[in-house]
Amino acid sequence: MTDCIFCRIATRKIPAKIIHEDDLAIAFEDINPQAPTHTLIIPRKHISTALEIAQEDHVLIGHLFQVGAKIAQNKGISEKGFRLVMNTNADAGQTVFHIHLHLLGGRAMHWPPG
Ligand code: AMP
Ligand code: ZN
Repeated sequence: MTDCIFCRIATRKIPAKIIHEDDLAIAFEDINPQAPTHTLIIPRKHISTALEIAQEDHVLIGHLFQVGAKIAQNKGISEKGFRLVMNTNADAGQTVFHIHLHLLGGRAMHWPPG
């Protein structure tokens, strides 16, 4: 999708601080970090929201979590703890309609979230 900002990052048409790339996924630093670690993990495939995840995407979604967990380990935040979050639609605060996992960590977080 040419008008999707995250598709454009995945195809390197607009810059981002990319820290991981493979055939299925790409990870880059959030432009407006909410924690010392705030990385976004996205599929190369354009999927608008969690509601559009299909049966054929199950391996892909599992891969996003695995990439997020590996990045948390590489950044040294995995033992203390981290969050992998996917916001969906307005009440959850979704602003970019290409699914992404937020990897948040490096500080203690509250539960329930705001
Ligand atoms: P969400 O609100 O869950 O849809 O999350 C979208 C996230 O994308 C926000 O945390 C934004 O700060 C982040 N974001 C938006 N544009 C960019 C960009 N060009 N590069 C990196 N992160 C971005
Ligand atoms: Zn997209």
